[in-house]
Amino acid sequence: MLESRSVTDFAQSVKQQADIVKVIEQYIRLRKAGAVNYSGLCPFHKEKSPSFSVHAVRQFYHCFGCGVSGDVFSFVVKIENVSFPEAVRIVAQKCGIPLPKKEYSSPEEAAEARLRRKLLDLHEAAATFFEEQLRGPEGAVAREYLAGRGLNEQGIKTFRIGYAPESFSALRDKLSGMADAETLRASGLFSQKEHEDGTMGPIYDRFRKRVMFPICNESGRVIAFTARTLETGEKAGPKYINSPETPLYSKGQVLFNLDKARTSIRQTEFALLVEGQMDCISVFLRGIQNVIATSGTAFTEHQVNLLRRHTSNVAVNFDPDAAGANAAEKSIALLTEEGFTIKIVTLDDGLDPDRYIRERGVEAYVAAIRGARRQAEYLIERARQLFPGATAEQKVKAMNFLLPHIRRMPEALARGQFAHDAAQKLGIDSAVLREELRQAALKRRDHVEMKTSPLTEVERVLLRALAIIDPEHQEARQLAARALEQQPAWFEQLTAIPALRALAGRRAGDPMEAVEDEAQRALLAQALLGETRPPAVDEVAGALQQIEEEAIEHRLRELRGQIAEAERKSDMAETLRLSQEKLRLDKALRELHQRGQDDGKP
Ligand SMILES: [Zn+2]
Repeated sequence: MLESRSVTDFAQSVKQQADIVKVIEQYIRLRKAGAVNYSGLCPFHKEKSPSFSVHAVRQFYHCFGCGVSGDVFSFVVKIENVSFPEAVRIVAQKCGIPLPKKEYSSPEEAAEARLRRKLLDLHEAAATFFEEQLRGPEGAVAREYLAGRGLNEQGIKTFRIGYAPESFSALRDKLSGMADAETLRASGLFSQKEHEDGTMGPIYDRFRKRVMFPICNESGRVIAFTARTLETGEKAGPKYINSPETPLYSKGQVLFNLDKARTSIRQTEFALLVEGQMDCISVFLRGIQNVIATSGTAFTEHQVNLLRRHTSNVAVNFDPDAAGANAAEKSIALLTEEGFTIKIVTLDDGLDPDRYIRERGVEAYVAAIRGARRQAEYLIERARQLFPGATAEQKVKAMNFLLPHIRRMPEALARGQFAHDAAQKLGIDSAVLREELRQAALKRRDHVEMKTSPLTEVERVLLRALAIIDPEHQEARQLAARALEQQPAWFEQLTAIPALRALAGRRAGDPMEAVEDEAQRALLAQALLGETRPPAVDEVAGALQQIEEEAIEHRLRELRGQIAEAERKSDMAETLRLSQEKLRLDKALRELHQRGQDDGKP
């Protein structure tokens, strides 16, 4: 009870001294919105226009979007995901208010906070130790490696890069006086083997003969390490190893370099996102300070929220063809869904940012960032490269490549604009295709489709066959064209007959252009939409057989009427002639069915 009361008393005194605006400003961007209030984007819900307000005099915040409100402590509780006493301590520290001796209400909270503080101390000591080792005689190989990567002494100091010596006990001996065995184990700085009887062996240094890159939290405190091997060959092990998850560190909750980059991110109003930590360091040290790294893994929602507090504009400098392309695309997809404005930086010759900046200079890199293309522009360009050519088939494929990206954009206006640009740049001049693309974008569909189609499956196959351009598939096209020429009667009942005839008579060029009639072109567009490959020869043959059957059946229906009419008129000669034709067609139909069944046999 006494302890709880002391927390409340202390909290009161902290609250009187703390400025809520200054505290919140360390997490999100705030703009002065009136005499006594500020506004910004709410960190607790997704939004694009600010509905989060902070009252400087009354010292509270309120979000008109999601309804959260409270005082400075409740803000810190929510945003840092900590207990109330922990929040009081954080605010006191931010405002330079000294802490009283007893500040925690429950023993568990006290223990947890003690452990975290101890782990921070251990990491600080480890970072210092690694820095010393890098300067020492054993660090020579590491210094050489770093010099080779273009890092000078100042850069090494800024990022507190260090060296873990080739020893199983150097760090352990250094830190063992600072904490008990359990705390040392929890730090993630050490490994241990499990004996066969289930007991644990002694701890030993996890990182050995590696260059050590500290990972910091947003306040710049070291919470983990990335370690790069200096060994080559079989002994080397993985090129990079990271600290395991600890009470301090969770991989998906940290953005590398955000502590150093955040001021610059707010000033430049965008963040430059690169993949590797080495890229990030290299770019930062050459004066581009708004750079952060994902460390090769895809963005998590937690990281998106970290970033959103500082900006919603991101320039992404990933290598689109690298092994990490999957993670990069996932990151871009998530940022798009979360409403970020994304630009894509592409570097000549597939260079990564580190090499590019060292080989071409910082001015060239700045120019590349300035020349970054909007994501839409970049994707359309990629669609054109993937599906080159002016044929309707290729254009539809390009559209279907783009639609999943368009669909992710949360705002209808942006989707509409993207669809418009895509139609323009892909040269889609068919009104039908344009409208289809626009609708798909509006309704967030991931492919273009037609709602109700008057086309039969057979017509689709024939239209697609006759629209073939690729010489490799000419056989299928010729099969359809020949049937159309030799058996025109078969096709008379088809809705798409004008388009089929126009396509069959086409010598070269775009199938869509061969069909002049607008309605017929729409039918062709439908047949081509969503097609992934031209029909095979046996698919066309099957369609032709079905058409023949249908033509015969149609003629048989006519004959039955005509025969009845001839009988009614007692025209025996005519009845006989028609009956013979009917018999012939019945036989032909039976043979066709028979052939169809034989074909179906294995
Ligand atoms: Zn809100």
